[in-house]
Amino acid sequence: MPDPTNRPPRPDENNELFVVAVDGPSGSGKSSASRGVARRLGFAYLDTGAMYRAATWLVQNSDVEKDDPELVAKLVAEADFGVGTDPSAPVFAVNGADVTAAIREPVISASVSKVATNLAVRKLLIERQREIIAGCRPGIVVEGRDITTVVAPDAQVRVLLIADPAARVARRKSELGDRVHEAEVHDQVIRRDRDDSTVAQFHAAAPGVTVIDSTELSLDDVIDRITELVTAARHERPTGEGQ
Ligand code: C5P
Repeated sequence: MPDPTNRPPRPDENNELFVVAVDGPSGSGKSSASRGVARRLGFAYLDTGAMYRAATWLVQNSDVEKDDPELVAKLVAEADFGVGTDPSAPVFAVNGADVTAAIREPVISASVSKVATNLAVRKLLIERQREIIAGCRPGIVVEGRDITTVVAPDAQVRVLLIADPAARVARRKSELGDRVHEAEVHDQVIRRDRDDSTVAQFHAAAPGVTVIDSTELSLDDVIDRITELVTAARHERPTGEGQ
């Protein structure tokens, strides 16, 4: 169809799916930044960490043998996961039960790495993540630990969001408030990152991934930086390329 404004159409106007992939360690601020970017661009939002948390909730609320990786993967394979992609209210359900609040409890944070390092569970969830991404035109912001490298390595914008460990622990502490002790916060940030990095590479940027250090940046600054990368990527790509 002719374009009456005579300007070059942007990739998403050609119905191309635009994917923004954001990885980072715990407390780097990637959830708030990714939601903010998605809201600003009118994109969907996928919190892949919440999917691993939902799988962990399922394992904890079943009588499966938790140390048997095959049985755990079977349980996850047979479950029905509701995955919300609205950046203003991402809702999660497991077999019809709303687990949006329950998956944020410290008991889930403390055990999620064990489920997330089950390679059969990862395979299942990665497949599901790719399906969700494919259905989210015109675009989606996806955050996690392996999005830039495994789930969506072809994303038009790929960001690794980092921050000093002290800043990450302080952020997590302010989120959790008085509910948890210092040692638990440390466990949720430092120990969890150590365990998670056995299956996903999120401490160093893969080639082509832009590193943003959020230690000294406000949330708005981070959202601005990522949005600028999206604008640049849209202008870089010639008309119709990528389909
Ligand atoms: O991002 P969040 O802290 O909610 O992630 C919870 C957990 O899910 C992580 O600690 C990690 O074990 C797992 N995860 C993962 N791969 C992703 C996202 C999260 O293994 N892409």
